[in-house]
Amino acid sequence: MAKEMLLNDEKEPPSTLPGSGVITLQSDDVSPGYSTETKLKVVWDLNSNSLGAAKSSEKTLEFRRQFFKTVTDTEWNNWHWQLRHRITSLNELERFLSLSEEERQAGFHRDAIFPVAITPYYLSLLEKDNPGQGLRRSVIPVKKEYLHAPEESEDPLGEENDSPVHGLVHRYPDRVLFLVTDYCSTYCRYCTRSRMVGKRLNQRFNPSRWQAGLDYIAATPSVRDVLLSGGDPLTLSDDRLEWLLSRLRRIPHVEIIRIGTKAPVVLPQRITNGLVRMLKRYHPLWMSIHFTHPDELTPETQSACQRLADAGIPLGSQTVLLAGVNDRVETMKQLYHGLLKNRVKPYYLYQCDPIIGSAHFRTPVTKGLEIIRGLRGHTSGYAVPTYVIDGPGGAGKIPLLPEYVVGREGNDLLLQNYQGRICRYPDAARNPAGQPQPA
Ligand code: SF4
Repeated sequence: MAKEMLLNDEKEPPSTLPGSGVITLQSDDVSPGYSTETKLKVVWDLNSNSLGAAKSSEKTLEFRRQFFKTVTDTEWNNWHWQLRHRITSLNELERFLSLSEEERQAGFHRDAIFPVAITPYYLSLLEKDNPGQGLRRSVIPVKKEYLHAPEESEDPLGEENDSPVHGLVHRYPDRVLFLVTDYCSTYCRYCTRSRMVGKRLNQRFNPSRWQAGLDYIAATPSVRDVLLSGGDPLTLSDDRLEWLLSRLRRIPHVEIIRIGTKAPVVLPQRITNGLVRMLKRYHPLWMSIHFTHPDELTPETQSACQRLADAGIPLGSQTVLLAGVNDRVETMKQLYHGLLKNRVKPYYLYQCDPIIGSAHFRTPVTKGLEIIRGLRGHTSGYAVPTYVIDGPGGAGKIPLLPEYVVGREGNDLLLQNYQGRICRYPDAARNPAGQPQPA
């Protein structure tokens, strides 16, 4: 595709084409694993000539009946419609939610904080009268965002210092982070890149910046792994995304491409058959999906994950540990079990970075360790992510584990299992001083 094509208007996704229709099936048709109240609607996607199932929870259906009564299924299931109807001000939010004093006061200073944007779909998951709900706290600003703790900064990970070209971070030896857009469909209040995403420019794409990043990668043979992030790369049109992926695939030393996204969670309508068909052409392609809470595991999101997994894209999750949102073992267990059922491997659990105005979200590190201890051994190993701190100033990800080695007696290592029971492991290859034996 010629570079000029990037400047064209975005194509409408297939589900918006004239002739799309809706068939309502009986509740018996609902797949196992979905609640019986789930209504099943099937959108006939004429462009991809395939059936794309778009199921909704009763909560979302009720929200639509209350606030978007005249909006058709075809419109609601169209990701462009969702983007066009994002809720971006606290005044608008008052229509949908009973705002608390803390939330309303944040709105009086809206120019001074990270912007607000929430897709109608994701808004449908929020509880109207409960400002303490985890999902609601993760996307609705509160007055505490104006507090600036001494340890906080705009770029706590020092990404700007590791950027050989604008929008590309080269920190680790064999991989780069390519920030391809500063736009997200929904903004998380704890975003590590709030210094650059969602700013007034709202640059969804920038061809000259992309070209500089591609040139750097092509000229750096040590880069075998490219992570596309932003902002959210899946807010780009299929054409623009394909332009990037095809250029990256032409670079012989790029072995794998990864996409970091929250779209399957906040904008699951984005995972169209057309997108998935295009992504399949660029394997090996991996995807890291940003999940926060089990309430996000809706029929729509599950369907999006299944579609991606069916396309052979290995899926991993990334979750930020957030006080009062997901900082309980049971909450995390529920989330991780749900992810595994949808073929998403829990990958990273992040300690919340000290970005400005995020103190109310940060837990002590002991809380993260408590969660890992509550998972390891108590459930499938696949359900246990790696808990990491992204080291301030560019130190990179540092894994943290609860203490399982509790001592040594002679050659014996004293280990504590998940039940707290101490056992001895005969560490015979080492002498009593703990040094390797001479050959
Ligand atoms: S989706 Fe990611 S980049 Fe976008 S606001 Fe949330 S954390 Fe930031």
